[in-house]
Amino acid sequence: MRKLGVHVSIAGGFPKALERAMALGCTTFQIFSHSPRSWHLTGIPDEEARQFIKQREKSGLGPVFIHACYLLNLSSPQTALREKSVWMLEQELRRADIIGAEYVVLHSGRQEMAGEDEGGGRILFTESVKSVLGRGKNKKFRAGLLLENTAEAPAPGAPPSSIKALAHAANEAGAAGICFDTCHGFASGYDIAASAGMELLARQTQGVRVCLIHMNDSKGRLGSGLDRHEHLGKGAIGLEGFENFLGFGPPFRDVPAIMETPKKKEGDDPMNMKTAMELLALEQRPSRVEKPEQ
Ligand SMILES: [Zn+2]
Ligand SMILES: [Zn+2]
Repeated sequence: MRKLGVHVSIAGGFPKALERAMALGCTTFQIFSHSPRSWHLTGIPDEEARQFIKQREKSGLGPVFIHACYLLNLSSPQTALREKSVWMLEQELRRADIIGAEYVVLHSGRQEMAGEDEGGGRILFTESVKSVLGRGKNKKFRAGLLLENTAEAPAPGAPPSSIKALAHAANEAGAAGICFDTCHGFASGYDIAASAGMELLARQTQGVRVCLIHMNDSKGRLGSGLDRHEHLGKGAIGLEGFENFLGFGPPFRDVPAIMETPKKKEGDDPMNMKTAMELLALEQRPSRVEKPEQ
């Protein structure tokens, strides 16, 4: 069965985040390793890391994903900001290694993929990421890096292509793979509620590993470019849309799904977990299982 979870808070320490995930019935989860809108970092006490690793092992939950800080700009033409971003990405990966998290997720949008100056942004981005990760024997971290698609409106009159650019950048930068956010993808023009949209997506993710799905419904309509997450089934993708997405098969089959849906009320996460579990149960229906070749 596909791993399922939500983004949980680390308030009170990393072991608390694990407790929250377990209480919700998650089999995987995502966290920030610190306040995501701040450059300020405090060290992770050894005892806290040890406790987290031990309890996580006992719980069997995983993989664990760390969502990188929102302030990162690895393609900035301003050297100071770029260098600070390189430093912060290193810290995110180091923190992942300290607590034994498997992946760090990094947003990468149009700015990183192309840049105003014909590819300049993309080169700065991939060079920055490469320098952080190192390669082969010089690989610096155990945790893998995943590049996540952002919400951006497609160019008028053209089919969406941001995922193709993301897959290319991930390979070029030596990332472990990509994270596909359903809200961002839908807002970027990929109609994941229809087979044609899924086929396009499958073509554009060829040659890259999809390691994580951010399973969020979208407040904005198809191709709106809006990054507004909605509860599962209550947005423009809808329950049938998610059924289509989850039932499509490779490259999304069995990929862990984590929700970053709104948390306005206490019951919000349990509600989305319940909906997601129902969707995953549909995925397991015998009619969904591929028939052997005749
Ligand atoms: Zn996301
Ligand atoms: Zn978003």
